[in-house]
Amino acid sequence: MKRLQQLKSSVGGISWPAIPDQVAANLLSMLSQLEQSQWWQPEELLQKQLQQFGLLAAHAYRHSPFFKDRFDQAGLDVKHYWSTENFSTIPLLTRAELMHQAEHIHCRALPQKHGAVHKLQTSGSTGQTVAVLKTEVTQLIWLALAMREHLWHERDFSATLAIIKAMTPTQDDPVIAAKMGWGHPAALLFDTGPSYSQPLAMDVAQQIAWLARIDPKYLLTYPSNLSALLDRYESGEPIPAALKHIRTVGETLHPDLRERCKKLGDIDIVDMYSSQEVGLIALQCPVSGLYHIQSENLIVEVLDDAGRQCQPGQVGRVVITDLHNFATPLIRYEIRDYAEVGPTCPCGRGLPTLSRIMGRRRNMVTLPDGSKHWPLIGAYRFREVADIKQYQAIQHSLVDVEIRLVVDAPLTSAHESQLTTLIHSALGHPFTLRFTYFTEELPRTKGGKFEEFISLVR
Ligand SMILES: [Zn+2]
Repeated sequence: MKRLQQLKSSVGGISWPAIPDQVAANLLSMLSQLEQSQWWQPEELLQKQLQQFGLLAAHAYRHSPFFKDRFDQAGLDVKHYWSTENFSTIPLLTRAELMHQAEHIHCRALPQKHGAVHKLQTSGSTGQTVAVLKTEVTQLIWLALAMREHLWHERDFSATLAIIKAMTPTQDDPVIAAKMGWGHPAALLFDTGPSYSQPLAMDVAQQIAWLARIDPKYLLTYPSNLSALLDRYESGEPIPAALKHIRTVGETLHPDLRERCKKLGDIDIVDMYSSQEVGLIALQCPVSGLYHIQSENLIVEVLDDAGRQCQPGQVGRVVITDLHNFATPLIRYEIRDYAEVGPTCPCGRGLPTLSRIMGRRRNMVTLPDGSKHWPLIGAYRFREVADIKQYQAIQHSLVDVEIRLVVDAPLTSAHESQLTTLIHSALGHPFTLRFTYFTEELPRTKGGKFEEFISLVR
C-alpha cells in the first residue's frame, strides 16, 4: 500500500513508524492479504472459497436448525470435501425463507472471537423486511472491502466528501465535519478531510445550493438522485468547482449518467454493487470499469433459468454465499438481482467480473406472449420531447402500461404521441400506454430507492 507513510498512529508521541490501534491493525492485516489475493487465478480463489465454505457449512449444520434440515434433505454430508459440483446441489435460499424462517436460520452459537452480534433489518422494494445478524468479523470484512474500493480508485483523503442518501441525518456543521472526517474505514487509517451529509428527502434545489456551498470533490449518492441533480446542472445551475468524482450505490446505474457527467465537467462515476444483507458484492475496476466480484468474502453465482452457471455476456439471477457470516448463514441466497457475467479483466486481477447489474426481476418487461426482457431504461431521451422532470413505467397487465410523468403541465397530444414512439422502442412492444401526470416527486421504495420500470404482472 503506497499510502502507508501517512498511516495514523494511536500511541502518544509516536508518529513514525505509526502504531495503529487494534481495529486498524486488523484492517491493515486484512488489506495486505487482499492486496495479494486479488491477483490470484480464479481456480486458486475458488479453492480457498470452498475451503472456507466447508467451515461455514459445518457450523451452520451444527447451529442452524434450518440448515441442518436443508443439508439432510439434500443428502449432503457437510464433513465431505466441497466441490463446485456438490456445492451447486444445495437448494437456493429465498428471500421469503429468510423473511419467514429467520429464527430457524439464525445460528444458536458462534465460534470464538466473532465478536458482538447486531441485527440489521433490511426492507426490500416491496416493503417486507428481513433480519440478518452481523458480527464483528463481517464488520471487519466490510471495512476492508470498502477500504479496497478507496485504494483502487486512489482517493484523495484530504478532500471534502458529501453524502446524500436515504436515512442519513443532516450533518452540515464544519466543526463536526472536520472532526468526523470520512468516518470508517478511511478515518481509521488516515487523517481525512471533512465529510458532510444530507438525507435523500432534501429537495433537489436545496441539494444544489448545499453542494455549491460545501463544494465537495467527492459525492456519494443514488443514480436516480444524481440524475435529478444533473437535470439542474444541465439547465445552467453552477456545478461545484471541486466536484470530480461521483460514487453511486443502491440502484441500477444507467450508462447515460456516465456520459452526462463526462459532458458536464469531466466528472467520473464509480459505481458499487452492494446489498444490506451481504455488504459489498462487486466493485468497479479502476482500469476497465468492469465490476470485480469480491471473491474473498462471497461466492457469487449468476444462474440461468435452468440453474446453470451463465457464461460471459449472459444475464442471469445472482445467487450469493457469504463466507464469513456465522450468525445468519446466507448460503446460496437468491438476492433477486440480475446481472451480466463479464469477461476476464484486462487489469490482470483474477477476481471474476460482472459487466452490468440489471436490477430486479420485476424491472423486466413481460411481453403478451409471456416472454420477459430488460427494457432500455434511462429516460434521458424522453426529455428531448418535453420537459419531463421524472418518469416511471408501471406494467399493470400484459397489455396495459401506465406511464407516470412528473411535469409542470400535461403534455400535448402531439408530444404524447412522440413519446409513445420512443417508449414502444424502449419496451420492445407496442403496448397500450396510459399517461398519468404528477406534480410531486414519484414515490420511492421504503429503502429510498427508485425504480424506473416496475412490472406488476405475475
Ligand atoms: Zn480489473
